[in-house]
Amino acid sequence: TVPQGLKAPSNGVLLGVDTLADGRTRWNWRVKTPNTYAIALNVGPYEEVSGTYKSRFGNSIPMAYWYLPGEKPQAEKLFAEFAPTLDFFESMIGPYPFGDEKLGVVETPHKGMEHQTINAYGNAYAKAPEGFDWLFQHEFAHEWFGNQLTAANWDDYWLHEGYGTYMQPLYGEWREGRARYAAMMQTQRALITNRRPVTQQRVATEEEVYEADKGGAGLDIYYKGSWMLHTLRGLIGDTAFFAVTRRAVYGRPDPKPGNFRPRFSSAAEYQALVRQVTGKDYGWFFDVYLRQAALPDLVERREGGTLSLSWTVPGGGNFPMPVDVQVAGKVHVVPMTGGKGRLPVPAGAHVVIDPDAKILRRSVAIEETQAWTAQSKRPTP
Ligand SMILES: [Zn+2]
Repeated sequence: TVPQGLKAPSNGVLLGVDTLADGRTRWNWRVKTPNTYAIALNVGPYEEVSGTYKSRFGNSIPMAYWYLPGEKPQAEKLFAEFAPTLDFFESMIGPYPFGDEKLGVVETPHKGMEHQTINAYGNAYAKAPEGFDWLFQHEFAHEWFGNQLTAANWDDYWLHEGYGTYMQPLYGEWREGRARYAAMMQTQRALITNRRPVTQQRVATEEEVYEADKGGAGLDIYYKGSWMLHTLRGLIGDTAFFAVTRRAVYGRPDPKPGNFRPRFSSAAEYQALVRQVTGKDYGWFFDVYLRQAALPDLVERREGGTLSLSWTVPGGGNFPMPVDVQVAGKVHVVPMTGGKGRLPVPAGAHVVIDPDAKILRRSVAIEETQAWTAQSKRPTP
């Protein structure tokens, strides 16, 4: 119940608005399957832009954006992003999980939050070279990775934030191709800190995961999670990667509106799905990227006519990650069985390791850049 003239957009379906004798209004909302941390009441002098999206799955999805007065042109531009973004997610991942309720976004004083069917938006209509609003896109990604698939333990919240962050470069690729994807991935790469493992393998609280000073991986669950998914996609291929993603999100390979419900998942289940879909055990991959802080390091040696490569990984386990090597303009795949590999390289031939940056691995240049940036931020005496 809100004062006269205010609106109260919230989760789910609006059953009706009652006007009380004193002019106040009562907003009645119903939510079928609320994610418990994604419930929100928003009260303000909102104006609304709305429409209907015709889904490729045959259903119609109501869309609405509640914004503050005086912002109509910007609000309509942001609203125009809803349908193409929804088409991207439904094409790449699967049906919008709450199509029988709505796609809802509401403007807020805080930056953003994935409140189910009423995403908070506070990005001030910021413009970016990629041509879409990353904050809206990120929060909306959480409808799949957060509200449909919910991690049972905060320790596995890379499933929310890693996927939620990977969806922006993937959308860049969908809209403009590989170059945009690569540029956006490189921006994220520079933000990975590797101070703590992404998961601690115990039941953790939200603070113990999101806050670095409480022992959490902090922003690495976003950027390192995203780069881990990028690396996995390169390793197992698009067909397997999106099959794993779909099963993790919906619990089945063939989601259609009405044949799935929100579900809980975990890193352990995700790893099992990768094994199930590919027929191979990728425990070595997750042991390093999820359970160790440091990144795998590719040691290169060129002697005579041979390039020798070997992986050094924290924990010392086997790491048979194949590596692309470009020799004089031609790309070869070095299988790296047992974590080592060799390639004949003619004298004088120019060599580029992993020319498409498929693999998340140690970069001395990024470590030095981060150290230099931290140093140059210190006040000079
Ligand atoms: Zn997020």
